[in-house]
Amino acid sequence: MRQNHLLAFFPLLILVFMAGCSHCGRNTDTLYQASTIDALLVGIYDGSTTFAALKKNGDFGIGTFDALDGEMIAVDGSFYQAKADGTVLPVADTSTTPFAVVKFFVPETKTRLSGSWNLSGLTKHLDRMLPTPNYFYAIRIDGTFPAITVRSVPAQQKPYPGLAQAASRQAVFQFSSISGTIIGFRTPDFAKGINLPGYHFHFISADRKSGGHLLDCRIDQASLSLDRALELRLALPENDAFSGAKLGRDHGRELDKAERGTSHD
Ligand SMILES: [Zn+2]
Repeated sequence: MRQNHLLAFFPLLILVFMAGCSHCGRNTDTLYQASTIDALLVGIYDGSTTFAALKKNGDFGIGTFDALDGEMIAVDGSFYQAKADGTVLPVADTSTTPFAVVKFFVPETKTRLSGSWNLSGLTKHLDRMLPTPNYFYAIRIDGTFPAITVRSVPAQQKPYPGLAQAASRQAVFQFSSISGTIIGFRTPDFAKGINLPGYHFHFISADRKSGGHLLDCRIDQASLSLDRALELRLALPENDAFSGAKLGRDHGRELDKAERGTSHD
């Protein structure tokens, strides 16, 4: 009798096991980050993490490349390099990055955006929507955008300049009526030094031929997906540039200049 009882439960046990295993080896609530924004700001651009490692830890994300050679966009498991000459290339697993953030994107909230916002208006709208600023969020916005402005930074030569100086040589691209995806993260203020506090977005067109770091946009109608993350896993560079750097200073102004395109000289 007892044995029969167990046998009757077997299919249920197998189902539970399979459901629990659907994300085996994929921690879907963890952000995986290569290096820190502070390290990037002081010019630590040698690639320290391979894209093979990044792909094991996420299918969605943003970042840059060895020597700061362009802007990285990962969407639906495909990784792209938006270069300063305007081309967008697939990324080889053997390529490396000095800074990137990825996650397995599992949206918890999906909604329509309908209004008329630029990037600043969008971030204020998101701030009003989010229940708390104290978690990390992965953010995806799909649509046809009336206007998109992106930048990409060309590969830097050693000795590497700081990020603000490197970004002053950025190439800027403007598009109108372009379909595509805005991809990014919101980082809590308490994590400054590790990542850019607030929002950081990249863009890639639906045809995967245009993209970069988002400087501005115009959004009328789009779909928004949000995925909160409760965990952060940090892969620090194992190299002399990182181990010998003076990190931990307040880089707020340089960061705004380098990543938000504000206070240009
Ligand atoms: Zn960026």
